[in-house]
Amino acid sequence: MKQNDPAVPRPDRHLPRTLCELSLAVHGGVLIDSTKAIRTSLVMANAYELPEDPSEISWSATDPSLYTRNSGYNQVALEEKLAALEHGEEAVALASGVAALHSVFFTHVRAGDHVVVSDVVYESTWRLWSELLPQRYGIEATFVDITDLDALRAAMRSNTKLVCTEAIANPTTKVADIDAIAKIVHEYDAILMVDSTFTPPPLFRPLEHGADLVVHSLTKYINGHGDATGGAVIGSEELVDPIKADAMVDVGGIISPFNAWQIQRGSVTLPLRLRQCYDSAQAIAEFLEQDERIQYVYYPGLASHPQHDLAVRQFGAGNLGGTIAFAVRGDHDAQNRFVSKLRLITSAFSLGEDHSLIVYTGIKGAQVKAYPEPFRTYGHLRISVGLEDAGDLVTDISGALDETFPV
Ligand code: PLP
Repeated sequence: MKQNDPAVPRPDRHLPRTLCELSLAVHGGVLIDSTKAIRTSLVMANAYELPEDPSEISWSATDPSLYTRNSGYNQVALEEKLAALEHGEEAVALASGVAALHSVFFTHVRAGDHVVVSDVVYESTWRLWSELLPQRYGIEATFVDITDLDALRAAMRSNTKLVCTEAIANPTTKVADIDAIAKIVHEYDAILMVDSTFTPPPLFRPLEHGADLVVHSLTKYINGHGDATGGAVIGSEELVDPIKADAMVDVGGIISPFNAWQIQRGSVTLPLRLRQCYDSAQAIAEFLEQDERIQYVYYPGLASHPQHDLAVRQFGAGNLGGTIAFAVRGDHDAQNRFVSKLRLITSAFSLGEDHSLIVYTGIKGAQVKAYPEPFRTYGHLRISVGLEDAGDLVTDISGALDETFPV
């Protein structure tokens, strides 16, 4: 392919945004190339043929395709799809969710800037802002309870460049009011970055609620099959293009063509999978809440959840996530005993997959010590509800409870 050929055929960027969510998930980002295959081909090449005189081409260019670290065929297809699903202008796909988070921090925050971070965020975000970036690069970070808008306002400074939150927080399921937070953040001309891994499109789109950048771990719901790792940042060209130039081309946290292809394929069924996960999660949370052997349960779909009303208003009834945080009565050993008795639900770190997964976090980690109660005292089990039948999952949990607490 020559440089002035459409080396990487651009998909129809202008799929009508009014398309129904199911149609967008199927058609978004599909590239038809010279083979006329109606599926996006997998292109593993790490370089593309150059024009006769390549000397004018910038080695830092992000488009068109030159070399996989600059922008590859499957990467572009996935980015187009993610931009369409999030109703964003531009997307960049990277090697992992953490690479995507770091790409935002690396590109948009400088020494001397200040950032505000929700006090409950994914472990790596927490460590990046509690240790690594402040210690190594002199960037100050303030952690706030993001549900306390007065505390957020009080934390903002004239040099606050970025505010980071998760829409539903991993692991406590704390819910952030994105519209209200965006209003405050923009009064200070700062950037609002929302990690929406727990709340993928089409069920929630942070950009439509005032967020400037959305981050996803594609490893989770968007791929959904537990067999690929990736991350993405979506937002305006003005904010995403510098991420491509700085964090993608020159730092190199790129996604592999195979993972991009795999994730694009997985995402076709995203709306259907989310529906199943969320319905089952609601049923399981209700089951857990009425069982006296359960110490506590946090799930935004329960009326007892502190931000239940906000969650229903923001995400819509029935769209309240697939992850539940809870603990069984008893100590550390009781939590592990319960997990060991599960037969269908697997003890593993990830979430958002076809398999239901559970993990016990214990109470020793530095981040756990900063969690609110009851998480700090009891630790918690995080269950990510998969695609199995909800009745089978409840039977698995109830059987494990019977074996953990024999009468
Ligand atoms: N953000 C959230 C909310 C997560 O839960 C995770 C991983 O669990 C990540 C980011 C990091 O994603 P990855 O494991 O793909 O790097």
